[in-house]
Amino acid sequence: MNRYSEIIATLALTLIIATLPGCAKTLPSQSEFVLGTICTVNLYDQGSPEVYHQIFDRLREIENRMSANLEDSELDQINRMAGIRPVVVHPDLIDVIQRALYFAEKADGAFDPTVGPLVKLWSIGSDDERLPGEDEIAAALSLINWRDIVVDREQGTVFLERPLMRLDLGAIAKGYAADEAGRIIRAAGIKRALIDLGGNILALGEKKGGAPWRVGIQNPLDNRGAYFGIAEVRDKTLVTSGIYERFFEYDGKRYHHILSTQDGYPVDNGLLSITVISGNSIDADALSTSLFVLGYEQGKILAESLDDTEAIFVFTDMSVHCTSGALEYFTLTDTTFSLIQD
Ligand code: FAD
Ligand code: MG
Repeated sequence: MNRYSEIIATLALTLIIATLPGCAKTLPSQSEFVLGTICTVNLYDQGSPEVYHQIFDRLREIENRMSANLEDSELDQINRMAGIRPVVVHPDLIDVIQRALYFAEKADGAFDPTVGPLVKLWSIGSDDERLPGEDEIAAALSLINWRDIVVDREQGTVFLERPLMRLDLGAIAKGYAADEAGRIIRAAGIKRALIDLGGNILALGEKKGGAPWRVGIQNPLDNRGAYFGIAEVRDKTLVTSGIYERFFEYDGKRYHHILSTQDGYPVDNGLLSITVISGNSIDADALSTSLFVLGYEQGKILAESLDDTEAIFVFTDMSVHCTSGALEYFTLTDTTFSLIQD
């Protein structure tokens, strides 16, 4: 999907949230293009322009530190020093890398923050996107191994052990950013807010009157903002990974941006999207990608093993499968999909 349609899709998703009943608010929402996507924040009650400023400043700070695309971000410095020397970085970045390592281990490498050479090779979502050759894919795969990241918390350094290794935090850093936005909002004494960082949604508090927020979950077959189901949540995050977010088509085949660390190609396991519902957005972001790469059977086992974690799996055959507690929040509303309870 090109940049323009992605922005339209993101705005449409924001619209879903804003237009579901009961979302009356006192201050207009604010949207900015940051973290490679449209980020929208809705503050309710005591929201103020200053808090919006603080939030977007923090999102830009996170982008400047953690972007794999910005020359001279701290992440870029780690990548350029791969195989050469450790780089001193801000504790924020150490926290995110350590959380990424935690999920790399949990997902047995299906999720891997050293996926950078493969992401760069495919460049899906950029002007350079292309179908790479087998030899290029093999070369990129040989550089991927989360065990070759050395984090020294005391020295505040990160080191990639082999030259040409490359970190990419695209699957986790938006979740961290959503948690940070939530922290700023709570510190300002604001009890109710909705944050949408390009599909990473954080719903703080509840609706006025005590009802839960109703969040539409994007129909993965429709990028015009249609939703196939609704989650009713309080103080939860919903993070979706899907094949509709960033892709290109070549010779009638779709190549999307969630990449297999086994074969180097976009994951092709019958899944269209996964939504994770959880209390914390960094984990939900890492998990939405991890579960997608692991696939339904292994992904469900991983999700069920974690506290406060539910997942909704949507397949190309229009079936929807969930973890055992997901139906506490989720209702299917589009009957072209069928909910399978197994
Ligand atoms: P998710 O499923 O959460 O993540 C998919 C992304 O994770 C892929 O795009 C890839 O980057 C990575 N990934 C793929 N396979 C794996 C795997 N097996 N294990 C681990 N990670 C994997 N986009 C731009 O176009 N331009 C920018 O300048 C830009 N800057 C960004 C800066 C930051 C700090 C962040 C967090 C994102 C930025 N992005 C930018 C967007 C980024 O490139 C990803 O496309 C985006 O984060 C994908 O998020 P998602 O929620 O759609 O999908
Ligand atoms: Mg993710």
